Amino acid sequence: MLSGNDIRKKYLEFFEKKQHKVYESASLIPDDPTMLLTIAGMVPFKPFFMGKAEPPYKRVASSQKCIRTNDLENVGKTARHHTLFEMLGNFSFGDYFKEEAIEFAWEFVTTELNLEKDKLWVSVFENDDESVKIWNEKIGIPLERIVKLGEKDNFWKAGPTGSCGPCSEIYVDRGEKYGCGSSTCGVGCDCDRYLEIWNLVFTEFNRLEDGSLEPLPKKNIDTGMGLERITSVIQNVSSNFETDLLFPIIEEAAKITGKKYANDEKTDFSLRVITDHIRAVTFLICDGVLPSNDGRGYVLRRILRRAIRHGRLLGYNQTFLHNLCSKVVEIMGEAYPELVVKQDHIKKVILREEEKFQHTLDQGIIIANEAITTVKSEGKDKLDAEMVFKLYDTYGFPYELTEEICLENSVKVDFEEFKQKMEEQKVRARDAREVVKEKIEESFIDEFYSKYGKTNFTGYETLNTKGKVLYLKEIDSTNLEIIFDKTPFYAESGGQAADFGDIVTEGFKGKVYGVSKRRDIFIHRVEVVEGSLEIEEECTLIVDVKRREAIKRNHTATHLLQAALREVVGDHVQQAGSMVDDERVRFDFSHYEAVKTEEIAKIEQLVNKKIMENIKVDISLMKQDEAKAKGAMALFGDKYGDVVRVVDVPEFSVELCGGTHVAFTGEIGLFKIVSEAGIAAGTRRIEAVTGMNSYLYMNSLIEKIEKTAQVLKTDSEHLVERAVKLAEESKEDKKEIENLKSKLAANESAEILKEIKEINGVKILVKSFKNRTAEELREMIDKIKDKMQSGVVVFGSDNGNAVFAVGVTKDITSKVKAGEIVKEMAKIADGNGGGRPDFAQAGGKDGTKVAEAVRFVEELLKGKI
Ligand code: ATP
Ligand code: MG
Repeated sequence: MLSGNDIRKKYLEFFEKKQHKVYESASLIPDDPTMLLTIAGMVPFKPFFMGKAEPPYKRVASSQKCIRTNDLENVGKTARHHTLFEMLGNFSFGDYFKEEAIEFAWEFVTTELNLEKDKLWVSVFENDDESVKIWNEKIGIPLERIVKLGEKDNFWKAGPTGSCGPCSEIYVDRGEKYGCGSSTCGVGCDCDRYLEIWNLVFTEFNRLEDGSLEPLPKKNIDTGMGLERITSVIQNVSSNFETDLLFPIIEEAAKITGKKYANDEKTDFSLRVITDHIRAVTFLICDGVLPSNDGRGYVLRRILRRAIRHGRLLGYNQTFLHNLCSKVVEIMGEAYPELVVKQDHIKKVILREEEKFQHTLDQGIIIANEAITTVKSEGKDKLDAEMVFKLYDTYGFPYELTEEICLENSVKVDFEEFKQKMEEQKVRARDAREVVKEKIEESFIDEFYSKYGKTNFTGYETLNTKGKVLYLKEIDSTNLEIIFDKTPFYAESGGQAADFGDIVTEGFKGKVYGVSKRRDIFIHRVEVVEGSLEIEEECTLIVDVKRREAIKRNHTATHLLQAALREVVGDHVQQAGSMVDDERVRFDFSHYEAVKTEEIAKIEQLVNKKIMENIKVDISLMKQDEAKAKGAMALFGDKYGDVVRVVDVPEFSVELCGGTHVAFTGEIGLFKIVSEAGIAAGTRRIEAVTGMNSYLYMNSLIEKIEKTAQVLKTDSEHLVERAVKLAEESKEDKKEIENLKSKLAANESAEILKEIKEINGVKILVKSFKNRTAEELREMIDKIKDKMQSGVVVFGSDNGNAVFAVGVTKDITSKVKAGEIVKEMAKIADGNGGGRPDFAQAGGKDGTKVAEAVRFVEELLKGKI
């Protein structure tokens, strides 16, 4: 029997034989700011479909990892939905169309996979007679197994306008036992009997503003077949979860939680959810997503937490999910080698989130219980929606849990009201997300691009170019936005800051202070120094050399830093962002704890060693496959574009990079790390300096040392010695001060002792102070009680508020109780307190009443003794 891995391989080999270029799966994080996650095989090829980039191959095929959360509620319930699944896809960009697409698909399922022909059904779009004809006449499927479906099911569109076209799907009839039994059950029914395995999309139209369809000059094919689904058919099991792609995970989850699969539906449901989710979680973290409260991080967190919840539903309260990760890697590691590399990192991130969520749950249970107690004490029987939502929104506590606890306590909750609050929240979130538009409209860029193509960037070779003004816009009286046909100015991209410099003609002088890039069009922001500029005019564009040189040093240093980090800290280190300008290197990377001081030292040393070796930096353009063979980093899920620019510091660092770099590492000069800190969960940031900046940085450190030495009256040579000595002295001094203080206090109490009076033969001492802490009063009382052996001590202190303390020796507590006295005093100063019969203290709001309270006690005592 074919394994899931065999089927993936067979598919790619089949299409390779049909002249398709096989692409590796792209990252789950699309290279497209408008999309959160890769949801289909076509996502990485979108620019080719939209005609925004020229495809290097007209036929391609891939097995693409995809994440869909629109099916989340169904995951675990149906036999066929996952959050993470693989989409096998073959694509044609203006090459073959309907006929071949259908023929390829049919050939693959019937001759490669040997599916029984008469169990296969197809659906077509209701107006697409062409496809009906191909299926019926060319392929030989009887008309009764060709089902026409409407726009909702079988018409694909990118948006309200733009590319679109009919689809045709292949279904397998899995037999009556999978059916819902309804008389209308058939292709398109939601149950599991007619299983949609493959969707062929024929993008042939462009929908115009008025809704009409115009045929596209280049027609495209986009197909998608779910690997898990086709595997379930081939392996003849009742759901995707029982295929060899997923079942070993179910078994492992059952083992860990001490459950059995296929005994009862509730347990099975939870095991399926856990199994599905651990795959998604493993892949998402592998591609660089970390749990957070928005965007992709939130998708990850939701999936992770849903899985943890289902662990609890199985009665398993410990962390467990991270232990399932190895099973996923075991099954998928061959097809996705990046999983093997990042395994340890992935596990750590999962474990962290598990621990965090355990805490959230524990905390939520306490808060929910408190809220329920309040509700009951107020004589109500319902937890209000505000609180339910707060538990969910602020504390991350799942609604079902609140409901469960309420149920146990016979308190009601209203799901509808809670949903209402959620809706309100969603609206608020949407408002906050309002897209901030850039100054230049997207439509302008499109138009400009089709007219002039991309800007010719000369800045790799030269810092001085003549360029013609193609576009000019006055932002205000002294600021312009200019696009030239050619430019040596590097535009801010890939974490590298833009070049600055000058624009000069005979009648104009301007300073470039920003360059951005939109679809390879370079937009310069220029401050006018003098004169004016016309469209079509030719200018001399001069890059500020000093700034560019400093940026180059920092950029190459960033590559060295990344390589050194991986060598010293570990292979899981992945770039999470970087920013280099003329002042410093800022490098963000995935790592679960602070980089240790000795690691920092090692990294710094290694980078500096590579600098001193003065290695020649090789920059070349090459095919992606070659770059990969060279070991180029950041290739997993990088942009498709066949030729890549590779920056190679031989035997140390190979990266794909479009930035500017030094020719020899020696130019970098001294590399010095300035700081290391955490910026988000699992993400660290290192800042460093190079070249003249590290000279300045070191100098400023030395200056500080010298100033400190001066203040401490020594020289830098003896500074540490001196500092140690001073610290020791200061420690001694502190001890001495404490000593003196207690001596003073003893003296004071000797003075105070003189104020002891006697009432009916009992010694009493009553006194008020200013600004004494409760602790100080207590200490004094203890000492005095010792000295007087028998008696009553009553102290108060006015500290703005009032503090009282009363001590009574044991032999008198039958007559006078400290707790009672202090209570009376506190009342006078608007407070309360109490305590034992032999010692008690209290506080009050009003310090001005202390003297009065103390006098009152004296009278009180007279009555008692
Ligand atoms: P369904 O109606 O079953 O949800 P779909 O119409 O959403 O499927 P397409 O968007 O056409 O599916 O995706 C192409 C193929 O990808 C499907 O034929 C199916 O094999 C697979 N697929 C889609 N969604 C999922 C999912 N959530 N889990 C697993 N496979 C899926
Ligand atoms: Mg769907």
